[in-house]
Amino acid sequence: MSCFRRIVGIVLAGLCIGIAAIAAGCAASSEPARTIVVNPYEGVDWSTVQHHRAALHVHTLQSDGHHRLEEVLAAYHKAGFTILSITDHDNMKPNRHVEGGRVPKEQASPFPDPKPADYPANTTWPWADFGGPAPQDLGMVGIEGNELSYRHHINSFFNGFGAPDREMDEDALLLEVKKRGGLAFLNHPGIDANWWTRQPVEWYVERFQKHGPDYLVGIEVTNCSVPTEKYDEGLWDQLLARFMPHRPIWGFGTDDMHTLNSVRESDAVFPLNRLSEANVRLAMETGRFYFRKSSRRDDFRQRRRPEELFPQIKAIRVDAKAGTITIDASNYDTIKWISAPESLEPQADYKTSNAPWPLGRVVHVGKTLNYRQTPGIGNYVRVELHRRDGEDLFRTFTNPFGFAAAQ
Ligand SMILES: [Zn+2]
Ligand SMILES: [Zn+2]
Repeated sequence: MSCFRRIVGIVLAGLCIGIAAIAAGCAASSEPARTIVVNPYEGVDWSTVQHHRAALHVHTLQSDGHHRLEEVLAAYHKAGFTILSITDHDNMKPNRHVEGGRVPKEQASPFPDPKPADYPANTTWPWADFGGPAPQDLGMVGIEGNELSYRHHINSFFNGFGAPDREMDEDALLLEVKKRGGLAFLNHPGIDANWWTRQPVEWYVERFQKHGPDYLVGIEVTNCSVPTEKYDEGLWDQLLARFMPHRPIWGFGTDDMHTLNSVRESDAVFPLNRLSEANVRLAMETGRFYFRKSSRRDDFRQRRRPEELFPQIKAIRVDAKAGTITIDASNYDTIKWISAPESLEPQADYKTSNAPWPLGRVVHVGKTLNYRQTPGIGNYVRVELHRRDGEDLFRTFTNPFGFAAAQ
């Protein structure tokens, strides 16, 4: 570098620092200057998109679900879903509940004859092999998927992998998904069952350090299982506080459906101009979707339409010049802006408590956040829209926006 260039560089750097200081000084508080560097909704044309409902964690009689594939597909189709991945457990034989006498023999699910080479770890795919219609006949995008279930449950998509036994650890499983060109997320971290030992937050940190965002895209934040709720949300905030903005961890909502008559609805919604497998995949990689959770347990086949239940996002607008994010929405009571928790220390034992971590802190309530002037914002902010209906709470969650200190 020439001497002249170095001097210009120093002068420019000095100017930048000066401008940053002025910008910070202009803010109403002594908040550090921050710029938005992660906006998962960048490029979405909200005036033209359609909001596609996705079910990314669904079981059938091919593992421990109670219904045949075609019954499941018909129910989701009727409920307006256009994106669906059947994710049966890779460690279970089909018709478990037929054998257990909970589902009549006549309703047993067929499976291909001869059996797939990797039976019973095979995916429930293509649907036609298991008595279902082709996705395009339902106007749907169908995604080949599996719930890798020998260890920490991991949902695997866009590939046919299923583990043959419990020899492979989670890192080996994730690398296999990567090798096969798939995507994965970590399921219901706090599930209150004796299926696996809960892991400390450090375990998740290691996984997200080891595995890139090109195949390990996030974690399930809302699942129909109750005890996991505060656990999974708390864990997500703990991870975002550590990883944003350089390594976003997208949150997913699923209903983990096993029985249609007892579903606590949770889904993901993809705003897309064109419904295609490639566009769904890209949105899963870039966080360009939002997700929802109901606290009410319903018969999936008899319920009201989701737009009556959940807060509906109409548009998300970021104005980097003004330093604002605005959510246009309907059917909500409040819009909460949530940033990093006050502490990264656990507040209880993660093995026994269902709320072991402090939740992210609410830094603002209202439809517009001024992220330069609002105190208490850390390295990210995410949004929850709430609607109360009697005892029940219906929530819509955005993915996180990431901030960096202004240079
Ligand atoms: Zn599971
Ligand atoms: Zn499951």
